[in-house]
Amino acid sequence: MIKEKINFLEMDRISLEKFFLSIGEKSFRAMQIMKWIYFHYCDDFKLMTDIKSSLRFYLDSIATISAPKIVERKNSFDGTIKWKMRLYDSKEIETVFIPEKTRGTICVSSQVGCLLGCKFCATSMNGFKRNLKTSEIVGQIWRIKKIIDTQKNMIKNVVFMGMGEPLLNLKNLISSIRIISDNFGFSISKKKITVSTVGIPFAIKKLSENVDVSLAFSLHAPTNNLRNKIIPINKKYDISSCLSSINKFLRNSNIKNKKVTIEYVMIDGINDTIQHARQLVKCINKTPNKINLIPLNRINNLKYSFTRSKEKNIFIFQRFLIDKGFVTTVRNSRGEDIHAACGQLIGKIYKK
Ligand code: SF4
Repeated sequence: MIKEKINFLEMDRISLEKFFLSIGEKSFRAMQIMKWIYFHYCDDFKLMTDIKSSLRFYLDSIATISAPKIVERKNSFDGTIKWKMRLYDSKEIETVFIPEKTRGTICVSSQVGCLLGCKFCATSMNGFKRNLKTSEIVGQIWRIKKIIDTQKNMIKNVVFMGMGEPLLNLKNLISSIRIISDNFGFSISKKKITVSTVGIPFAIKKLSENVDVSLAFSLHAPTNNLRNKIIPINKKYDISSCLSSINKFLRNSNIKNKKVTIEYVMIDGINDTIQHARQLVKCINKTPNKINLIPLNRINNLKYSFTRSKEKNIFIFQRFLIDKGFVTTVRNSRGEDIHAACGQLIGKIYKK
């Protein structure tokens, strides 16, 4: 039986060090290899010229550096780029790059599809297929940086806001974050890595015990009654249990003045009245936060016919929150024309 090769994109620095020690090499080889992978974007052991040739030959026989393959690229008029990537088992995911003037954000997927079925989101329309491996999460960034970022080093932010609920893929999320933030990995500040979740309290606790990152909470409704209707998982983990775990997360964080980003999608006539804004204030006033209002993006074939809140209502909603002392921004929707915006990522089903 042919033994499957080890994929080095699966391994953080500590696991790589252990690996090299286990084959009778010194642990510094881990940093040497990581430099080739994450600084030079090299996936060919034969080209790693500062490593002795016998070791290169051996690594080539037992290991690989293998990221998902790009199968499609779409460019938005606003500069946003969306890639469709194919995994080893032919499943597909989507990854988005959102450029600003001097920096950029990469939005990565953590699962193929999603189990949670939020009513305003396209990702779960095709059901849940599987969790992504660490190499498939890290590999999305590796591919994109290799294409667009080797010179300019533009990618300063990583957000787990692509396909899937990252906290339901906790083990691989944590090991990916370790590689993304490692100085010999992508070297992205932990403050600039944001995990967005609909709220899985036990996983929020585990996350804070393992890594220090920024958190975004997809609240989207200020009462359990309403939230149950648009985010079914709320029936299991209600708003107060989520906020209590988020408060603990913030207290445990080493990041100064840590706040959670409250994400609130604006849906016409559903959650966008002044009454809702009042309820929202009451709901989150004990949690250090900043609020990000997200005008609902257009999604084809959704079972529910939600539409985006009117601009005037978004403005009134925002004004109310600002007057109450909350930092409140309205997200500038990027990449909507190529279905790369929030809630639009879907992977393979989009072809149908
Ligand atoms: S919003 Fe997030 S958790 Fe909800 S269905 Fe979409 S991907 Fe899943």
